[in-house]
Amino acid sequence: MSKKYKVVYDRENCIGANKCIGIHPKDWGKDTEDKAILNGAQLNAQTKKFELIIDESKLNDFKESALICPVYVIDILDMETGKTVLKINPTKEKDKDNVPVIRAHYDSRKEWQMDPKGFFTVKIFPEEKLIRARYYGEDHALKFVIEGTNSEEMYNTIVREKLVSTFQHAGYVGNELMKAEIALKKNLPYVQDDPLP
Ligand code: SF4
Repeated sequence: MSKKYKVVYDRENCIGANKCIGIHPKDWGKDTEDKAILNGAQLNAQTKKFELIIDESKLNDFKESALICPVYVIDILDMETGKTVLKINPTKEKDKDNVPVIRAHYDSRKEWQMDPKGFFTVKIFPEEKLIRARYYGEDHALKFVIEGTNSEEMYNTIVREKLVSTFQHAGYVGNELMKAEIALKKNLPYVQDDPLP
């Protein structure tokens, strides 16, 4: 018999970001307050959370939903052991205390390494409402122009096309595209590598 799991969804704290619905539209719907509906779930009157029993074949789908939820309101329990399979609650003080804290720091002069795959220039074009990222390959010649309005779509396109080959470069490009998106939306000047005003 296949293993059973319980999905516990805390509707009260859902912010309606729709990420769960976006990746698994069969499992999630949207209610009149723009919050997610866990299809087929029952409300637990005591906990005020919605619960759904699933079998192993659905476990990965719900893990994906739980991981993509920006406020982590989706938990999964193993029905046999009662233990949590996946429970992310970054707001709990005790979770913070149980792990080492790494203070962020970065020295660009010492730590930046050129990606052997090439580099990007990023510019915004407010009159066209577009961001353009120009990709220069290993020979420093222009190979592609990626254009869009949304940094998430743009960096995922860059990753899909395999135009970056280091974590550092991927992080850098994502950061620049996010700055460009904010500048475009807020009518701010954008200069690559400079902080936003
Ligand atoms: S991803 Fe989380 S916050 Fe967004 S709709 Fe789904 S449950 Fe709500």
